[in-house]
Amino acid sequence: MKILAVTSEMVPYAKTGGLADVMGALPQALGRQGHDVRVFLPLYDTIEAQHLRLEVMIESMEVQLGAHRYGVRVVRDLDNPAAYLVYCPALYHRGRLYTRDGDEHRRFLVLGLAALHAAQRMGFAPDVVHCHDWQASLLPLLLRVRFGWDRLFAGSRTLLTIHNLNYQGRLPASALPDLHLSGSEHLLHQEQLRGGMINLLLHGILYADGVSTVSPTYAREIQTPERGAELDAFLRARTSTVVGVLNGVDYGVWSPEVDPHLAHRYSADTLDGKEANKEALLREAGLPYVPGVPLIGVVSRLVGQKGFELLPEVLPRMLARGEVQLVALGSGEARIEGIFERLQQRFPRQVAFLRAFSNPVAHRIEAGADLFLMPSRYEPCGLNQLYSLRYGTVPVVHQTGGLADTVQLWSPRDGSGTGFPFAHYTAEGLRWALGAAVEAYRDRGVWRQLQRNGMAQDYSWDRQAGLYSALFERLTR
Ligand code: ADP
Repeated sequence: MKILAVTSEMVPYAKTGGLADVMGALPQALGRQGHDVRVFLPLYDTIEAQHLRLEVMIESMEVQLGAHRYGVRVVRDLDNPAAYLVYCPALYHRGRLYTRDGDEHRRFLVLGLAALHAAQRMGFAPDVVHCHDWQASLLPLLLRVRFGWDRLFAGSRTLLTIHNLNYQGRLPASALPDLHLSGSEHLLHQEQLRGGMINLLLHGILYADGVSTVSPTYAREIQTPERGAELDAFLRARTSTVVGVLNGVDYGVWSPEVDPHLAHRYSADTLDGKEANKEALLREAGLPYVPGVPLIGVVSRLVGQKGFELLPEVLPRMLARGEVQLVALGSGEARIEGIFERLQQRFPRQVAFLRAFSNPVAHRIEAGADLFLMPSRYEPCGLNQLYSLRYGTVPVVHQTGGLADTVQLWSPRDGSGTGFPFAHYTAEGLRWALGAAVEAYRDRGVWRQLQRNGMAQDYSWDRQAGLYSALFERLTR
């Protein structure tokens, strides 16, 4: 099948979170299954284009959005047949991927339109237009109202994949002309429009042929008022088309056997090598190595979603008793950064907070930590717990979304399970899970079993891409 995908992030070009990892791996896995996938993303100025071998596909074309016209160029990465980058300095030279600028919606509307125009120029008739998140979610409607005349798209079906329902692209109604709906404005949700708002993600939910999200549990959760972020009723109305497909892992990148960022490579058979990574990580973080004390790792965007507000009620007591150490990598909201800063100040020999975005350090934490902590309030899929499983780093997670689907509670009775999920998002829940993990860590046999159980899990993309293939087939049948 021919797949045209539109995304705001893709490894190795541009990443702030899991979407980038997905887009770095899924197209290649689909390619191995025989699909022709072309992914369009912005050529941000943060991408070091001078190190890429780029070929110009479309020298220049114009994309119109209401009163605004943008000249864009489309280039292809010769070393990555799936990647098509849209060059438009007026929109993408902002020093970062996302902004709060007044034209944020136009930045991504242009991306999607450029992808469709490029498909026309290339004579590429997509069987599926795969739209990722709010940035691409108006495309199903635009395809209908602006490209309906073009037979090239006559057989095209659309799939919206929601990587996080809480980012919706909400615009004031005054942005209406920018959507360039060519006389089809009545197809927008009228009540919201009268209320002064346009919600881009909502229109993907309304008009895409299929809607998917990144784990089965999250697919159910977002259809409830508690987790539906005000869109649950619309998702329920389409419940038969809403499916959850777990993200996969690129084990070529995330495996302790091959990881170039580690001081010591190891596998399930050479788990002692993991301890050397722990020592190296503690050294790097400026903490003493204390044999027998488990090290908790955190790698995360530091935003409310991730649940770190629970820490101040739980960790100080454990730290005061010398039960754990903590290395945390991340940045984000000052409020959440402050939680880690205060822990570090109070327990300087046990807590290191690295306020940064660093892929190599993320790898070293996956390898060097004993426990990996993800107390997320909600988590569409989560990738770090999947990486942790592969690295023999036992996840402690809130049992929600993809975390619930991928981390099974350790059972001393039959030696099954891969980690410590807690059911209720409370300090008690977290305290219980961390306590159980620390307890298990004290028994070397138990711990080895837990690690091996996790390392034996298979979340490879080849498997998950097969599920996307099946989804594409259902859509186009
Ligand atoms: P989300 O997409 O909500 O941020 P995920 O768990 O799905 O959460 O994916 C997060 C991805 O971003 C992982 O690959 C993780 O390693 C990476 N990441 C997050 N914060 C950092 C950081 N500070 N430094 C390096 N990598 C990070």
